[in-house]
This record gives sequence, C-alpha cells and structure tokens, in this order.
Amino acid sequence: MKRNWEGVVLKVMGAKDFTLEVTGSEEITPDFLRVHVRDGGLLERSGIHPTMWIRLWFNDSGKAHQRAYTLVNASPADGTFSMDFAMHHGVAADWARSVQPGDTIDATVQGSSFTFPQPAPRRTWIVGDPASIPAINSLLDERGRVAAGAAPVTAWLEYQHDADPSLEVRTSDSDVVTWIPRKRDGAALVEEVCAALTADTVSVGDDFFWIACEASSTRAIVKHLRKDLGVNKHRIDALGYWRV
Ligand SMILES: Cc1cc2nc3c(=O)[nH]c(=O)nc-3n(C[C@H](O)[C@H](O)[C@H](O)COP(=O)(O)OP(=O)(O)OC[C@H]3O[C@@H](n4cnc5c(N)ncnc54)[C@H](O)[C@@H]3O)c2cc1C
Repeated sequence: MKRNWEGVVLKVMGAKDFTLEVTGSEEITPDFLRVHVRDGGLLERSGIHPTMWIRLWFNDSGKAHQRAYTLVNASPADGTFSMDFAMHHGVAADWARSVQPGDTIDATVQGSSFTFPQPAPRRTWIVGDPASIPAINSLLDERGRVAAGAAPVTAWLEYQHDADPSLEVRTSDSDVVTWIPRKRDGAALVEEVCAALTADTVSVGDDFFWIACEASSTRAIVKHLRKDLGVNKHRIDALGYWRV
C-alpha cells in the first residue's frame, strides 16, 4: 500500500515507523471496541507520555488512509498496548470491527506530545467525546500522579450512542462530568460549554483547558476562550479529533 504525500512529509520530519500485530479485541460497549496489539518495538523506541497518540495506516481499497489513535494500557515491559475505537462508519472503525488476531497494521509516531501543566492549574476544563476518552483518562491518571488532589476537573462529553455515558471516565470525587447528547451538528455542546465558561467561572491565568471533540466544535470553543475570555494560547491544548 503506497502512502501519499503525508508519508513523505512525516519521513522528512523524522517520523518513526512500526508494524503492530493484533493479538485480540473486545467489546467495551457495542459502539466502543478495544483492540490489543504487540507494539513492534514502538514503546521502547518512542517512550510514552499522557494522551499519546499514533498514526495508523489503514488500507482503503489500495490507498493509504491515515488516522490517529490513542494508546491505552501501554506496557513497555511486555511491548503491548491497546487502542479504543469509537464506532461509526469509516475505514478505521470498520477495521476495528473486523480485525482478527495475527492481522498487522503500520503505525507512525510523529507529532504527539503532552505534559500536564505545572504548577497545577486551579481548575482543568475538558471537552471531549468517546474518541477522546482514552486521552482524557490518561490525562486524569497523570493529574493524579503529578497533582494529586489538585486541579479539579469540569468535563463535558458529547455522545451519540445510548451506551456512551457508561464508558469509564477516571475522575475523582472533586470532578464534575456532564454528558451531552450530540444535537444540531454539535451546537448543543458548544452552547452549553460556552455558557458555562465565563469571566466569572474561569480564571484566565490559572486554569487549563483541554479540548478534543469534533473539529468545528473544537474551533468554536477555542475561539470563545481566546476571543471572548482572553485565555492565553499556552493554557489551551486543543485538537479536533474528527470532522463531520
Ligand atoms: C490525536 C488524535 C487521537 C485520536 N484518538 C482516538 C482514539 O483513541 N479512539 C477513537 O475512536 N478515535 C480517536 N481519534 C479520532 C479518529 O482518528 C477519527 O474519528 C477518525 O476520523 C476515524 O477514522 P475513520 O476512517 O473511521 O472515519 P473517517 O473516514 O475519518 O470518517 C468517516 C465518517 O465517520 C464520521 N466520524 C469519524 N470519526 C467519528 C467519531 N469519532 N464519531 C462520530 N463520527 C465520526 C465522519 O464524520 C465521516 O462521516 C483521534 C484523533 C486524533 C486527532
């Protein structure tokens, strides 16, 4: 399978390539599948960090189709990790639905980085959905390690499937999570989040914002933070995780 210009650019940027071997898969909910892989040396060479994601190269009728997925339960000692797939109709999701032990898939490591802010933020505001729950959980785990008992989280998670709100979110007692059904192409989420993030509730200099939902919703929320509230871009970590 020939990679397009993206593959060339990534190579120039020093990307590292690996081949992952599937060892099994499990259904977390009917709309959220976990695929287990042997890492082909990826963890040893690349290390791991919270919210770490990799680029997987799917075969779309002979054409390379690159999509990002987040590492779950990475074990450098065993050379294994898993990836959670939020289900929809797409090449990557379809691959996860039909994958068999022994199948392989190419992966590239390039572009992922994250460090939990220090000193710990006064509050951490998170906006996501099932696609970003693996990253959110690793961020929450990291918060527990580097800022135990601090940086309480307020999170909004958009969902499209009835079982989504049953997905594990590793919050602590001081955190608040609100699940919002996806309505009006994401406008319901954006309106609720922007109405809650105001000059009265947010500390522009001391809070941290982690936003990873649909691309246009992500953009709208970041615009509100930057333009309406004047939040410095260094206090925002935002990336559209998928697009309509
Ligand atoms: C840094 C990063 C990390 C990510 N980590 C994960 C992860 O761990 N788990 C995960 O599930 N996703 C993750 N994603 C999102 C994933 O890469 C996208 O959902 C991707 O578009 C799926 O590719 P696809 O080939 O299945 O569908 P595409 O060909 O991209 O899209 C096909 C159709 O499905 C729709 N669609 C795509 N993704 C979604 C979605 N998540 N929800 C609803 N509809 C969708 C599209 O709008 C389109 O109509 C991550 C994205 C980024 C940027």
